[in-house]
Amino acid sequence: MTRRFSSAITPPANKTGPALWFAFAGNKLLCHQEPSDVIPLLVDFSELGLESIRQQYLGTFDGQHCFSVELAKPVSVPEGMILQGLRQVYARLGEDLFVVAVRAIQIVDWDRTHQFCGRCGAKTVDHDIDRAKECPECKLLNYPRLSPSIIVRVRCDREILLARAVNWPTEMYSVLAGFVEPGETLEQAVEREVMEEVGITVTNIKYFGSQPWPFPNSLMLGFTADYADGEIEIDPVEIQDAGWFTANNLPTIPPKMSIARQLIDDFLKSQIDG
Ligand SMILES: [Zn+2]
Repeated sequence: MTRRFSSAITPPANKTGPALWFAFAGNKLLCHQEPSDVIPLLVDFSELGLESIRQQYLGTFDGQHCFSVELAKPVSVPEGMILQGLRQVYARLGEDLFVVAVRAIQIVDWDRTHQFCGRCGAKTVDHDIDRAKECPECKLLNYPRLSPSIIVRVRCDREILLARAVNWPTEMYSVLAGFVEPGETLEQAVEREVMEEVGITVTNIKYFGSQPWPFPNSLMLGFTADYADGEIEIDPVEIQDAGWFTANNLPTIPPKMSIARQLIDDFLKSQIDG
């Protein structure tokens, strides 16, 4: 498969051809309403008549330059356009453009939150070569922050462990997930999260795949594991309900874009194949 997106730091010397502009107001992406060409394609963002606070160059997508933009609020959304959350716009963007939007929102967020040095408080400047903010006083470098999280599918024979977090708005069940703590291996994080959330031990932990997840800046590291021992005992602070489900009696599960869904689909496939 050809990689459609190529990352770069240094913007083109002259803006000649049209570029893709991933413009955000808070967590909402500025999109065209019509079905095709979701992301505005313009030589310069100023053509839309909107005020931008900051812009960053991202690289190229199918040879077209890409920029992220933080919009000044309030935004008077141009005719025929809307502001939409990334989850809502996923299907229209398609997987390849979605991952560029995921990158864009994380760069916008990092740019906004690293304007000043976290150590001495001086105003930072963009680093010449790297995607980093440099403090001119104490030389501290701040790179875009990623927070590694594990996400794990636990199975026991023909059943999959699914849980519902207390703060989820819909009646959805999913696999378990949680942030990795400093000093922990990923496997230890898997064991700890499963024990903390549902009180069981797991074995046969295997890497499955990964997914950048910009809510807000996670890198989801997917694993599969087998049930080892214990009875389900939920942590009521985080989990509302958890249980074992077969392929035939699944509850509502996450949408297609998530690695959580890929882990569940992989389980379902094994049930059909086996
Ligand atoms: Zn400093």
